[in-house]
Amino acid sequence: METPAPYNVFTTDLLIDNQAVRGEGPVEVVINPATGERLCDVPEASPEQVSRAVMAASRAFDSWSQTTPAERSGYLLKLADAIEAHAETFARLESLNCGKPYARALGDEIPAIADCFRYFAGAARCMSGTAAGEYLPGHTSMIRRDPIGVIGSIAPWNYPMMMAAWKTAPAIAAGNTVVLKPSEQTPLTALFFAKLAAGILPKGVLNVVCGKGPSVGQPLVEHPQVRMVSLTGDVSTGRKILQAASAGLKRTHLELGGKAPVIVLDDADIASVVDGVKTFGYYNAGQDCTAACRIYAGAKVYDRLVADLSSAVAAIKVGTQDEADVEIGPLISDRQRNRVASFVERAQMASHIEVTTGGRVRAGNGFFYEPTVIAGARQEDEIVQREVFGPVVSVTRFTDEEQVVHWANESEYGLASSVWSTNVSKAMNIARQLQYGCTWVNTHFMLVNEMPHGGVKASGYGKDMSMYALEDYTVARHVMVKL
Ligand code: NAD
Repeated sequence: METPAPYNVFTTDLLIDNQAVRGEGPVEVVINPATGERLCDVPEASPEQVSRAVMAASRAFDSWSQTTPAERSGYLLKLADAIEAHAETFARLESLNCGKPYARALGDEIPAIADCFRYFAGAARCMSGTAAGEYLPGHTSMIRRDPIGVIGSIAPWNYPMMMAAWKTAPAIAAGNTVVLKPSEQTPLTALFFAKLAAGILPKGVLNVVCGKGPSVGQPLVEHPQVRMVSLTGDVSTGRKILQAASAGLKRTHLELGGKAPVIVLDDADIASVVDGVKTFGYYNAGQDCTAACRIYAGAKVYDRLVADLSSAVAAIKVGTQDEADVEIGPLISDRQRNRVASFVERAQMASHIEVTTGGRVRAGNGFFYEPTVIAGARQEDEIVQREVFGPVVSVTRFTDEEQVVHWANESEYGLASSVWSTNVSKAMNIARQLQYGCTWVNTHFMLVNEMPHGGVKASGYGKDMSMYALEDYTVARHVMVKL
C-alpha cells in the first residue's frame, strides 16, 4: 500500500545521470491553478546542466542501445508497476499542478499512463524490419530498425505525465536515451517520475531538466548530441523548434494544436451528440488538442442541439480538485484564462453570435472560466478558425453535406475530427474525406495505446502511441551481405 499522498512534499530536483540535482538557474514558482497559491519553487536547469544531461544520455546510449528488446521490456514493465504503485501520488501531483479533478486524474489518466509503458514493453519485442532476402543475386539484404540516439523531448502543460509517457516510453523501448523537459508550469509529475525511474533504469537513460522554452528548451534542441527532438506544444513553438533543429539537420516529431470539427448530420442521435460534446468538448476544461470544439450541425437538428447542449453544459460542475462530483477544473493560468475570455469577447461582438451559456470568468480564487456554448458561429469567424484551448464550443449550422466536408477541412489544423450519424455509410463517406489524423464516428476523443495519435497540416507530424511511434523513434537501415 502506498503511503498517503504528499500534498505538500514535492520533488523539485532535476535528474541527471540518475543523480537528483538542484537546478542552478532561476527559480520557477509552481502554482495551484484552482487557488492561485504557490505550491513550490523549481529552480531551472542552467545551460551547463542541460549539456550535462545530454552528455549523460549520450554515454548511456552506448550500452542501452545494445540491450535486447526483452531487457528493455523488463525495465518498462517495472516503470509501469512503479506508476501504478504510486498512482495516488501521481494523481495528486497532477491534479494540484494542473487543477484537474483528482478523481479524473486517478481514474482516467494514471491507468492510461501505466498502460502506455506496458504497451511499449510488448511492442519493443515485436518490432521487425519488413524484408530479408536476396534482392540482388548473391547478396542477402535485411532491414533493421535501429535507435537514433539522444532524444530531446519537450512536453506541454495540459497532460504533463501522459505526454511524458507518450514521449519516453516509445523512445526508450526502441533503444534511445532521453532528456525530457516538462512544461515550466507543470513539472511536478515528471520530477516525481524521474525520482522513481532513477531506482529502476540504468543511469543516463532518462534525464529530466526543467525550465522555460528559451532558456532550457532551446539549448536542449540545439545541443549537437541531441539527434532528434520531439515536441508536443503550440504551432508557433513547433516552428521555432524546426528552425533551431534545422541547423543540425535533426529529426523532429511534432504534435501541435488542433481545432476538431464535429459534424452532426440531420439523422444523428442528438441525445448522444449532446452527451458526447458535453464530455469531449469540455474535458480538462477544454485544454485538449482533440477537444470537440467546432460543431457543425445539420439545419434540421441545429435548434434542438443548441438548446439541449446549452442546458447540458450549464449543468457541468466546475470546481476545485476534491469537490464532490466535480467535472472540470480551472484553466492552467490567469494568462490562459484571459486568452480564452478574449476569444469569447471578440466572438460576442458579432451580431450573428449568441452565447447561450457561460461566457464569463468565475469570480473568486483560481483561474476558472464558465463552460461556454457559442451559437450562430459562421465558418469565417475567429472562434471557428482558431484554437481556443478552453471550455468553449462553437456551433455552426450547415445545409449541404459537401459544403460541411469542405468547411471541416478548411482549417490550418488536422489532428482530430468526428462524424455523428445513425447511417454508417453516410458517416463513413464523410470520414474518408476528412483531412485529419483521426476521425471518430459517433464518438470523439477516445484514445488507446495500440492506435496512432498525431496530426497532418499545422497539427504536425509523427505519431504518438502504437507501433508507428516506435517506428518514429527508430531509423530504418539496410544491411547487405555478399554471399
Ligand atoms: P507551448 O508550445 O507553449 O509549450 C510546449 C513546450 O515547449 C513547453 O515545455 C515549453 O517550455 C517548450 N518551449 C516553448 N518554446 C520553446 C523553444 N523556443 N524551444 C524549445 N522549447 C520550447 O505549449 P503549451 O502552452 O505548453 O501547450 C498547449 C499547446 O500544446 C496547445 O497549442 C495544444 O494544442 C498543444 N498540444 C498538442 C497536442 C497534440 O498531441 N497534438 C497535445 C497536447 C497539447
